[in-house]
Amino acid sequence: MNGKSIVFFGSTETSVLKREYAFAAKFDAIIDRLGIKEAVKKKDVAIKAHLGYKSNFSAVHPFLLGLLARAIKEAEGRPYVLDIPRQIQDAYLRGYAENVIGCPILPAAGIEDKYYVEKKVNYKGVKSLKMGGNVKDADILIDLAHVKGHNNTGFGGAMKNLALGCFTEDSRYAMHDTVNYDPYWSAERSTDAKELVKACPYGLIEFKKRRLTVDFGLCNQCMRCVQEDRDGCLSVTML
Ligand code: SF4
Repeated sequence: MNGKSIVFFGSTETSVLKREYAFAAKFDAIIDRLGIKEAVKKKDVAIKAHLGYKSNFSAVHPFLLGLLARAIKEAEGRPYVLDIPRQIQDAYLRGYAENVIGCPILPAAGIEDKYYVEKKVNYKGVKSLKMGGNVKDADILIDLAHVKGHNNTGFGGAMKNLALGCFTEDSRYAMHDTVNYDPYWSAERSTDAKELVKACPYGLIEFKKRRLTVDFGLCNQCMRCVQEDRDGCLSVTML
């Protein structure tokens, strides 16, 4: 490793109607170039992927997952796909099924989300993180991520697929909740809290029991509320 990422790009465009110009062939070629087949022999290989949720199928297509699983099996590896329980329950409706992909689909921390390894941390209210035991058990971990827009993190991708998707539900919520940890409104100095509630065109600001809260999960940092804040008591961090 020299610290630099090596990027292989396969365009979905096809200029010639032959198999070797199709995206599937480019995907196979990238698997070859990554050296996956040389690494997986007699190994348990976890493929971490996002399997969509309910009607959201904007993730890596099951056909491509199948190509990867097949390549691993041909090289005598033992592949299995991982995601969180919520996504797995109805994944078959979006085409993610063992008889399509060709390998088991497992919840990262088991069916009850209780099979994990725990590490103590101390970051913005998070005391520990619980990583799925089925992640730990793998000899090799392949991060098969798709890119998605995300309100809290800008753009999710390879990092988020592992950093959130390999952990138990309580750890994921705790990580998401770190955006609310630092104080962003001063109750002592504020005199215009009710005006701030009206300032948000999306209804994301609440003022109840003398406490102002912002739903940062949906906030798009348009800064209208900050501009209306006469006291300078509210801060919204640009991500
Ligand atoms: S920054 Fe914009 S979207 Fe976010 S809370 Fe303020 S007004 Fe609402």
